[in-house]
Amino acid sequence: MHIVIIGSGMAGITLAEELRKLSPESRLTVLTQETHGFYSRPMLSHGFSRDDVETKIILRSFAELRTSGIDIQADTEALAIDHAAKTVTYRNAGKESITGYDKLVLGPGSDAFIPPPFRAAKGLYRVINSLDDLITLRRQRAALLASGTTPRWAIVGGGLIGCEVASDLAKTGDAVVLFHALPRLMERQLVEQDSATLLSVLQGLGVDVRLDAGADGFERADGQLAIRLAGGQEAGFDGILVACGFKPRTALAEAAGLEVRRGIAVDTHLTTTDPDILALGDAAECADGRIYAYVMPIRQQALWLAKYLAGLTTDPWQPPAFKPRAKVHGFTAAHPYLF
Ligand SMILES: Cc1cc2nc3c(=O)[nH]c(=O)nc-3n(C[C@H](O)[C@H](O)[C@H](O)COP(=O)(O)OP(=O)(O)OC[C@H]3O[C@@H](n4cnc5c(N)ncnc54)[C@H](O)[C@@H]3O)c2cc1C
Repeated sequence: MHIVIIGSGMAGITLAEELRKLSPESRLTVLTQETHGFYSRPMLSHGFSRDDVETKIILRSFAELRTSGIDIQADTEALAIDHAAKTVTYRNAGKESITGYDKLVLGPGSDAFIPPPFRAAKGLYRVINSLDDLITLRRQRAALLASGTTPRWAIVGGGLIGCEVASDLAKTGDAVVLFHALPRLMERQLVEQDSATLLSVLQGLGVDVRLDAGADGFERADGQLAIRLAGGQEAGFDGILVACGFKPRTALAEAAGLEVRRGIAVDTHLTTTDPDILALGDAAECADGRIYAYVMPIRQQALWLAKYLAGLTTDPWQPPAFKPRAKVHGFTAAHPYLF
């Protein structure tokens, strides 16, 4: 059986490695746009306070994965799925090729969500969603420090990633202003009391937190960046980071005619509307309507899916009990997180 997996994040690589063990006779191909190897995405938000992050973040090199018998096609973009012919068209080094599959697994992850008012200002803001994003930001920061400037960052979004990155940049000594549109931080994950604790922890680290401060857009002013707010504008930033949630990558599935809701729709067996195409991870919307966009449940999906594809179970995937946790330096929630 030839199993083709799109994506080399927690979903794709955990699945490939487990399948390698459970189904040694299967041929495994991973198509991925990544070039750096399999890395820990959660470490991205602590990517400024650690000097060794660009090497320590790599969990497995692609060379190592290939040695274990997984055909990793790196720097490769899956372009289209023909589910009638059971083929995927992909591009590598400017050349288009086609591979057939018996089972296709979609683990393309998610993009950072960019609210519509910001989209016109592309080029004025950055996101932190991949190792390439982190490397770019670290270079920008190093150049500012080398010129004797203490970087001043605006972070737009006081959710989990915005708060984590704000704490990490503040820990390095940078100036950080965190803009959040709502009256309390991480309101989707924390009860009010914990939001208040988080606010004082961030302020203690030196983060200038602005609540009820929804940004309308961004501008360049006098060589620096500015944020437009309802009450005027705030200028003088070296970088703007947008951290407003995530958007499942659904375009390939949608173009192939698979059902897509917020994510790629899958049933209790992580199977899309085509029985030979499955999906998991940040891109998949499960039968209960949820997207399990955290490492622990995604790993569980991948381990279950390997068993299922190897013919070792027919039971449905059961979402595990898990506790999300924000990696804000110095913060511990007193109550369970909401999910
Ligand atoms: C900054 C940050 C901090 C986080 N912190 C935590 C945390 O502390 N705890 C936690 O549980 N979760 C955390 N998360 C969420 C967690 O990292 C994700 O839920 C998880 O990594 C998703 O894994 P995935 O494999 O579904 O997707 P991804 O890791 O996004 O991998 C998707 C892969 O698909 C590839 N791809 C996409 N489209 C194509 C295509 N067309 N062709 C080929 N390849 C393609 C991409 O290149 C990538 O390799 C964090 C996320 C971020 C961004």
